[in-house]
Amino acid sequence: MFFSFFIVCSIVLVIGSSSKATGTLQAVFAPQEYVPHELLVKLKEDSVGDMVQSRWLIRNVVNLAQGKIKTYLHEEKDTFDWDPSVFKNRSFHADPYLLHIRVPAGIDLDYAISFLKSNPYVEYVEKNGIIRISTTPNDTYFEDQWGLLNLEYSGRDIHAEDAWDISTGNSEVIVAVLDSGIDRNHEDLQGNLWTNPNEIADDEDNDQNGFTDDLYGWDFRNGDSDPLDDNNLKYDDELGYCVSAETYHGTHVSGIIGAVGNNGKGIAGVCWNVKIMPLKISDACGSVALADATNALDYATSNGAYLSNNSYGGPVSYGNQSLKAAINRALAKNRLFVTSAGNSPTGYNIDTGTKIYPVCNDNENIVGVLATTTTDSKCSFSNYGPVSVDIGAPGDEVLSLKLGNAYQLHNGTSMASPHVAGVAALALGVCPGLTYGRLKDLIIDGADYVSGLNNKSVSEGRLNAHNVLNALGGTASPTAPSNLTAYPKSWTRIEVRWNDNSNNEQGFEIQRKDQYQSAFLHENSKDINSTSYAYFQDIIDPTLQKTYTYRVRAGNPLGYSSYSNTLSIEVIQW
Ligand code: CA
Repeated sequence: MFFSFFIVCSIVLVIGSSSKATGTLQAVFAPQEYVPHELLVKLKEDSVGDMVQSRWLIRNVVNLAQGKIKTYLHEEKDTFDWDPSVFKNRSFHADPYLLHIRVPAGIDLDYAISFLKSNPYVEYVEKNGIIRISTTPNDTYFEDQWGLLNLEYSGRDIHAEDAWDISTGNSEVIVAVLDSGIDRNHEDLQGNLWTNPNEIADDEDNDQNGFTDDLYGWDFRNGDSDPLDDNNLKYDDELGYCVSAETYHGTHVSGIIGAVGNNGKGIAGVCWNVKIMPLKISDACGSVALADATNALDYATSNGAYLSNNSYGGPVSYGNQSLKAAINRALAKNRLFVTSAGNSPTGYNIDTGTKIYPVCNDNENIVGVLATTTTDSKCSFSNYGPVSVDIGAPGDEVLSLKLGNAYQLHNGTSMASPHVAGVAALALGVCPGLTYGRLKDLIIDGADYVSGLNNKSVSEGRLNAHNVLNALGGTASPTAPSNLTAYPKSWTRIEVRWNDNSNNEQGFEIQRKDQYQSAFLHENSKDINSTSYAYFQDIIDPTLQKTYTYRVRAGNPLGYSSYSNTLSIEVIQW
């Protein structure tokens, strides 16, 4: 049935497309809205049966588009060389049924989309939209303000110094930074960089996570293991192409979150002690493909990051469902997704005007951030939205790191977002069991109301780090949980249960490793719990045969309990 369906449909596609072919490749740095000739195709998971059948189905869908399948490692596969049960063949490592297809240049993309959408097995089709990291919307707006520089403003606005009396961070907390990469050698970042505890540099994928030699994160843009910050170009709207600009956006953002504090050098991050996981998703000029952001976020979710900072966005009218699904996978693991409201010449309302993604997605774990000035007003360039945006944070003349042990100022909501991510990291370091919901509430409820931000965001205020940490409170360290058990709840879920022996914990941290990993990774958080036992359901990939080992500990602001017993459960591949 599939075969005949494929033949008939593909003929129609060829005929239909011959007169619609565009065949025009845009210049490398043209302001593209999507990656040319590429589609993301999601198959309905409930229509996909066993792996043999689904392989045929997927091949047929790809053949309909006359495409090659692109893998998350940036390889291209012919449909008959391709098998989604082989992890490294997948387009999206966290979703075997989302396909990244390169369509031949002669096929009209819109026609291919409408054609694929008519297939009953296809859930959605979208173009591989391009969004952007963004710093200053237009430097000329701020030329006069550069002289107003007062380094001491950095931190005071968000009451960081008061917060640091409570905590300066916890190096166990991992923050994923999806951006232009990072200057791993910067003197003010070393010591706060994540390294994969389960990987060694030996040209093998030691932890079997699908990424070879991912010691320091990953470069999803180029498909390699070196997420170095190469952001030395900037798109010029007037000229219409990229010009030289030593922006180094990802390094700057990373420094705001977690430049090493109290080391006698440079600046202090919002969180002095933290682990930054750099995931490079942009090119040198700041363009981000939807597919790369999606894969990077799933990497963060499955490799132990507690939250992610996402200082990028765009209208992506061509689609955003793939990234939205990844944000929901992060939500299922209790991960906060902090993102910027975006910059524009006029700083408009993104609830009522052109929507910006990912901040305008309705995922509950998103915290949208607008940019404020040293005088607590909204930066003129900062977008806002009483529904889509949650809080304001400094985004005007923010001093942070630059490639080569250097420092520089940047403006933008891209700089505001990492202030919030830094405070979230402080809170998680104090109280590891915080769920995304409680953490988001603490951030919003802790904001200082500012009249200039009235009706600009959910909180109508500016971030206050001290209020967030102060609200956590604390009495005495909790008692360790015990009697950890685990059993398969369904094909895709394992339920883990334990006895709650503490009456003063504020949450539990669940950790997991598989047989390829020597170190446990942060897996999930479990909220405050007053019953005698607690549980959570872990989402696992049923196509991978693995033995998962779990442990759990209780936490409150005075610290962690010791760990429970460990327990292993084997998943048989279907
Ligand atoms: Ca690896």
